[in-house]
Amino acid sequence: SREWHLVARPHGWPTAEDVALREVPVTEPGEGRILVRNRYFSVDPYMRGRMNDMKSYVPPFQLGQPMEGGAVGEIIASRAEGFAVGDQVLHNLGWREYAEVPAADATKVSAELAPLSAYLGVLGMTGLTAYAGLFEVASFQEGDTVFVSGAGGAVGSQVGQLARIKGAARVIGSAGSAEKVRLLTEEYGFDAAFNYKEGPVAEQLGKAAPDGIDVYFDNVGGDHLEAALNSFNVHGRAAICGMISLYNNTEPAPAPRNLAYVIGKRLRLQGMLVRDHVDLQPQFVRDVAGWLASGELKYRETTVDGIENGFDAFIGLLRGENIGKMIVSLG
Ligand code: NDP
Repeated sequence: SREWHLVARPHGWPTAEDVALREVPVTEPGEGRILVRNRYFSVDPYMRGRMNDMKSYVPPFQLGQPMEGGAVGEIIASRAEGFAVGDQVLHNLGWREYAEVPAADATKVSAELAPLSAYLGVLGMTGLTAYAGLFEVASFQEGDTVFVSGAGGAVGSQVGQLARIKGAARVIGSAGSAEKVRLLTEEYGFDAAFNYKEGPVAEQLGKAAPDGIDVYFDNVGGDHLEAALNSFNVHGRAAICGMISLYNNTEPAPAPRNLAYVIGKRLRLQGMLVRDHVDLQPQFVRDVAGWLASGELKYRETTVDGIENGFDAFIGLLRGENIGKMIVSLG
């Protein structure tokens, strides 16, 4: 069985020298555990943070050990009650072909309800992030004008569509390619979208939101956050979900130069972690499954085949090569 190990801590952008694809023996499951053949694993931006040796909200990946992350697969051996060979499960030992998992850390999923990969994206962690971030953290209300950055990605494309479904006055998205921008307005029903690489974000947002914004869902940080502060109406709310424009920086980035707007506009900038919102899981699955079935909610996945391409998939994600959720398929 092959698995990806972190072998050095990246400085700036991760390189192929920082990781290694290693062959390890497959072990029988211990008591209370299951052996899973992984079918898909997730690559996510937060994994960049786990490559650093820094105190954070999740412990760093250990050097010389396999990396971790969301995965779905099929049980091929079980010593845990309630988990049978052939059952499909979601768990957190990705980046490897076979995973020996404590059954308590695995959740059964059904390939009949949705394609297995959806449990890593639209019906999984990134979907819940969008749902909880918009509805709970940003206190979205019908009639709000919503701006979301990273809008061609997994979280962002779902945020914009959820806002539209729930009656936003106007939904604006930014993304890094013409293809993504077209997708937002033509398929996902955004009212306006722009390519942040084609001009200053503040200028483009100002044009797309002439009457200002009430909610900003931040996936990017930096000049996107600064632009949102400019465009905010009084009592605006931001869900600070991610700051991907900063993850590979080697020096701290300057704060938004216009932070003082927080005072006069009485803004609320609220950081979030999806793990604080698991109580919303049943409601999230019910709502999102319904909107998928009715066709109101659409999603894309970018699938990279083969474990040997797993690290390239991760770098591709950080570079913006994905449309929708980036997934590694193990066949
Ligand atoms: P995405 O599917 O959105 O993929 C990442 C995207 O980020 C890329 O496709 C790229 O698209 C964009 N990007 C990369 N560099 C930059 C840059 N310098 N400026 C602007 N955009 C950039 O990933 P996710 O949906 O999984 O995650 C989105 C954000 O949400 C991330 O910041 C992530 O860390 C955060 N997150 C936070 C969680 C939490 O609990 N707080 C949980 C899950 C995700 P483009 O072509 O547009 O540049």
